Amino acid sequence: MTDIKPNNKTVTATDMLAELVSIDSVNPDMPNGGKGEQEYSDWLIRFGNQIGLETSQEEILNGRSNAILELRPTGATQTLLIDIHLDTVPIGGQLSSLSPVIENQRVYGRGSCDVKGAMVSALLALEELLTDPPQRTSIVLVGTIDEEYLKRGANAISNQSDIAAAIVGEPTDLQPVVAHKGVLRWQIDTIGKAAHTANPELGTNAIYGMIDVINYLRDNHSITHPTLRHPLCGDGTLTVSVISGGIQVNIVPEQCTIDIDRRLLPNEDPLTVWKEIKNELENLCAEQERVGTEVTYHNPFLAETGIETSATEPIVQACLDAASKVGSPQELQGVPFSTDASPLNKHGTPCVVLGPGSIAQAHSAIEYVEMKQVVTCAQLYKRIVKSFDDETD
Ligand SMILES: [Zn+2]
Repeated sequence: MTDIKPNNKTVTATDMLAELVSIDSVNPDMPNGGKGEQEYSDWLIRFGNQIGLETSQEEILNGRSNAILELRPTGATQTLLIDIHLDTVPIGGQLSSLSPVIENQRVYGRGSCDVKGAMVSALLALEELLTDPPQRTSIVLVGTIDEEYLKRGANAISNQSDIAAAIVGEPTDLQPVVAHKGVLRWQIDTIGKAAHTANPELGTNAIYGMIDVINYLRDNHSITHPTLRHPLCGDGTLTVSVISGGIQVNIVPEQCTIDIDRRLLPNEDPLTVWKEIKNELENLCAEQERVGTEVTYHNPFLAETGIETSATEPIVQACLDAASKVGSPQELQGVPFSTDASPLNKHGTPCVVLGPGSIAQAHSAIEYVEMKQVVTCAQLYKRIVKSFDDETD
C-alpha cells in the first residue's frame, strides 16, 4: 500500500490517524472515563479551516461540542450527512492506549478502529471533493459527542429536516450495513430485610429474591421468539449484565440491583417491548411480595430503535455503486450493535453504516485498524457522494 498525503502535505494518513489516537477523547460519563471530546472537536475545526471547509461547533453538553465541517457547493439543493462519533471507550491496555503504535501498516491504539480511522477516511474524501465537488449535494461532516453512552451528539442533530440521507462511520470492514438492532436498558431492585447472618431467618435475603427475577428473565427472555427472527440481524436478546448487592459477609443483604440490556430487532418498537416486559414485571413483583421481598423496576434509562434502510433508497444504491467502483464488498449487511444511525433514523433519515476496521477490534484490549482499509474507505466515501449526487439528479 502506498500511503497518501492529505493536500496540506504536512502529514500522511497514517500520521494523521496516529495524531487523532493520541488525543484523549474517552467518554467522561463511562467508568474510568477520560477528558471528553473537546480537544478532538477543536482539532477538527482547525483542520477544516486549514483545508477550506466551513466550520462550526455546537456545544451539546458542558464543554463537549459536536464539530461541524461543511462543503456547500453553489446551487446545492440537498444535504448528505456524514456522522462519525468523537468519543471512545476507556483505555484498555498498551495496545488500546493513547500512545499509538504503527506496525505492519496498522495503527494500534484506543479509538484507532472505533472510530478515528473512519474520520481520517472522511477528511481525506472531503479534501478531494473540495477540488472536485458534487453538483447538487452539500456534505456535512459532523463529529458527534457521546455515541458510546447516550448518543446525545447525534440526538441533537437528528431532527434537521434538510438532511436527505446519512452515512454513519463505524467499523464494518467496508461492508454497507443497512440494518441494526436497537437497545433498551433498565434496572431492577430487590429489597429484603437485613439481619445478622448468625440468624438469617430473621432477615429476607434480597440476593435470593433477585435470583428468582434473573431466572425468570433468563428462562423467558434471553432470546426473542423465532417468529421475530430478522433476516439480517438474527434474534433479539436480553442480558442481565451488571449485578450488585449486599454490603458485608455477615449481614443478610437488604438490597440487590441488576442492569438489563435488551437488544431489539429493527421492527421492534422500544415502547411496545417495554410495555410487555413491564406487565410481566408487575406479576413478578406480586409473587416476590409473598416471600417478603419487594421488587421495583425503574423506567428505561436508554431506549433506542434499530434501523432498517430499504435497498431502494438512493443512499443504498449510491453505496453499492461506489463499492463496485472501488472493489469493496457489495453485500448488504445487518449487525447486532447500535450506532448514531438510531437517533438519525428515528426522524426518518435513511442511513447506511459503513467504515474501515472490524467490530472485533473495537472496544478490545488490542485495538487496531488496517491503513489499507482507511485509504480505500476515503475513496469509497468520495464515490458515495458522487453517486448519490448522480442518483438523486
Ligand atoms: Zn463506534
